[in-house]
Amino acid sequence: MTIAENIRSLEVRLTDLSGSGVPARLVAVTKTKPVETLLEAYQAGCRRFGENKVQELVAKYEALPKDIEWHLIGHLQTNKVKYIAPFVHLIHSVDSLKLLQEIDKQATRNERVQDCLLQLHIAQEETKFGLSEAEAGELLRSDELAALRHVRVVGLMGMASNTASETQVRREFRELKQFFDSTKNSLGERPNVDLRELSMGMSGDWPLGVEEGSTLIRVGSALFGVRS
Ligand SMILES: *Cc1c(COP(=O)(O)O)cnc(C)c1O
Repeated sequence: MTIAENIRSLEVRLTDLSGSGVPARLVAVTKTKPVETLLEAYQAGCRRFGENKVQELVAKYEALPKDIEWHLIGHLQTNKVKYIAPFVHLIHSVDSLKLLQEIDKQATRNERVQDCLLQLHIAQEETKFGLSEAEAGELLRSDELAALRHVRVVGLMGMASNTASETQVRREFRELKQFFDSTKNSLGERPNVDLRELSMGMSGDWPLGVEEGSTLIRVGSALFGVRS
């Protein structure tokens, strides 16, 4: 199967799984892949790409057409925000107020309002980044967040456990969706929070993510093959 065929068949499954609803959108995760691979996906119609390293994201942004939406999906250090602030479409991996404050500062310099997702820790593994529900709730309600004029929190991201247990993965996605819904309902009007995106699902589990309410799936190896 070519990359174009992989993208096409994933899009068909996405549409099928969504029934009459709006299908989740694909973020093609291209980390470690060369620019030629991204171009191939671009020519197949892909306009959303996800990278997990700042340097690689910037290099690919510079090399590729300018109508691409760039998504930063990996852990972001505060001292690197400035490199992506001029162009990044959505940062999926925000996990602290300090990081939001730096994003706000750099977005202000670039005269932009930066859309971000809060990353929640939903997996059982210890190693993954992310906030607890309590921490995310507190951050979303904080005066410190409300004071930021150049960031907008537009949703949540979570990575499920790396396990063969469908039951467990589904449970983790479902809990995140429930937190998303209950927060949305209880939060009230906030100047820079508008919860409308739920980034859930990767190559191994995106159909479950979609069934549990994902609006953005982040898929790499299922489209481009395993990474070396
Ligand atoms: C690498 C990565 C993905 C994509 O993983 P695949 O299993 O290759 O689809 C999704 N989300 C994040 C945060 C990643 O780092």
